[in-house]
Amino acid sequence: MILGTIVKGIGGFYYIDTNDGIVECKARGHFRSKNMTPYVGDKVHISLNADNTGNIDEILPRLNSFIRPPVANIEELIIVASVQNPEPDLTFIDKMLAIAYNSNVNVKICFNKIDLDDGKVNDLVAMYSNAGYTAFITSTTENIGIDKVRELISGKVSAFSGFSGVGKSSLLNAVTQEKIMETGEVSERLRRGKHTTRHVELIKFNGGYIVDTPGFSMLDFPKEITKDMLKECFPEFAKYEDNCKFRDCNHTGNASVCGVCRAVENGEIALSRYNNYKSFYSALSQRKEWKK
Ligand code: GDP
Ligand code: ZN
Repeated sequence: MILGTIVKGIGGFYYIDTNDGIVECKARGHFRSKNMTPYVGDKVHISLNADNTGNIDEILPRLNSFIRPPVANIEELIIVASVQNPEPDLTFIDKMLAIAYNSNVNVKICFNKIDLDDGKVNDLVAMYSNAGYTAFITSTTENIGIDKVRELISGKVSAFSGFSGVGKSSLLNAVTQEKIMETGEVSERLRRGKHTTRHVELIKFNGGYIVDTPGFSMLDFPKEITKDMLKECFPEFAKYEDNCKFRDCNHTGNASVCGVCRAVENGEIALSRYNNYKSFYSALSQRKEWKK
């Protein structure tokens, strides 16, 4: 029995990284009967055939799994935004943070392009630190903060998420000191992208792996996140909840009955975080219940 990690899957074959190198494997049929598809990132037990190909015998329990891209066992999710060009999209950041909270993954926010900062990046970092998150700054052109990212992802499976153009590919190239990603203008890449099929792949780096899909995004809330548990995905609300008049308060009322609303009025909770909470809450309220 050999332990390994699925680093790539193409056309029914899986490539497993083991202590003795990469082994090409097939999955045994019983995964299908259990309704389980091997994902890139899965830790697996394999057995070897005489010709040095192998079979996946068992998928070990997952820490987490994602659909876009299909990948499992992400330990560190780094949301990348740029301070300028494009402007940071706080709704995207807050949504990713909420989803990550629910997915058992460490999440951090990276504000890139700080060489273009016109003075607001400190406020952004402070706002997210206040909310209980780790936020840090980088510039790939000025080589700022790159060592810190390298240290952060060493020995772990990490993924980078963010809109096109914020500098994720540049960041990954700087961190790995290799050209593992194509960088460039958005329109040019979209044009090229049309003719290439991409498979998600784990790239080995410093004792860990990097998910090679730089646009890692989970734009819809998973069905596990209901409107009533959304507030738990905003960790900074917790300490004000005792001040709410009703125990099951969803913090969408007003300051006379809601401690969270009062904290927003006092400036203790960031207004943009709260507004995003309310808009996600309203979207989740309208979502049709999933059929069993
Ligand atoms: P991606 O779409 O997120 O992968 O972004 P890219 O890495 O392709 O970068 C998009 C554009 O931003 C490119 O023109 C990069 O040269 C530029 N860029 C990336 N990082 C920085 C940075 O730290 N500062 C500045 N000024 N430009 C950057
Ligand atoms: Zn409340």
